Amino acid sequence: MSQIQLENISKNFGENYVLNNINLEIKDGEFLVLVGPSGCGKSTLLRILAGLESSSSGSILLNNQNINDWDPRKRNFSLIFQNYALFPHMTVENNITFGMKMRGEHKSTFNEKVAHVAQLLQLQPLLKRKPKELSGGQRQRVAMARAIVRDPALFLMDEPLSNLDAKLRVEVREGIMKLHQTLKTSTVYVTHDQIEAMTMADRIVVLDKGRLQQIGTPEQLYLCPENLFVATFIGTPA
Ligand code: ADP
Ligand code: MG
Repeated sequence: MSQIQLENISKNFGENYVLNNINLEIKDGEFLVLVGPSGCGKSTLLRILAGLESSSSGSILLNNQNINDWDPRKRNFSLIFQNYALFPHMTVENNITFGMKMRGEHKSTFNEKVAHVAQLLQLQPLLKRKPKELSGGQRQRVAMARAIVRDPALFLMDEPLSNLDAKLRVEVREGIMKLHQTLKTSTVYVTHDQIEAMTMADRIVVLDKGRLQQIGTPEQLYLCPENLFVATFIGTPA
């Protein structure tokens, strides 16, 4: 179980107030999409969740326990972003198992896990290849496989499709959705693309200039936008 609560999270870089009093619950198993224009604070919020950046004030609770002081490793949230680097000299299989080996997991456990994620992400025919022999979409799927085998409490995805062409974007997006339906790992997915948000989300969080504008299902935001920004951004007809 992983239920995560952000309470009054604020962040400033000097005079630049990037996040203002963000209150947000990430429910166990939900696919939450964080959407908003470029520069509104999406990546900063994800980095704070991952433990890569500290907030200026506020708390993060995991199952009611304050985790502000936990380092990224202890949090075990997987962060996936567009330029997720694979080790170029290792095969796909070794890229996936590297972290497990580092943690001293037993070979029989990780062989089983690799078989499972390879099947989920359709990577079986690619396991012996090197990253340079893969397409962009295939590399992104390997990066996901590597994140999944860690059994994270939360997936954090920062515009994972943004470096892919339109066709690959559809392919990887479908992979992500299938994965979520199978694993049901709580996910925060960041995008600046409203269509992506509307089609993928259980709930959408709309952010503008570091302030939370509205949280709701795609239907709620479309039918009942709470302000002009949300209406315009989601594209509700006037
Ligand atoms: P988004 O991901 O929504 O495009 P970001 O979270 O990357 O937005 O950035 C929000 C604001 O915070 C921007 O004004 C950006 O310049 C600023 N910012 C982000 N990271 C830093 C940093 N490490 N130092 C100073 N300013 C930063
Ligand atoms: Mg960003």
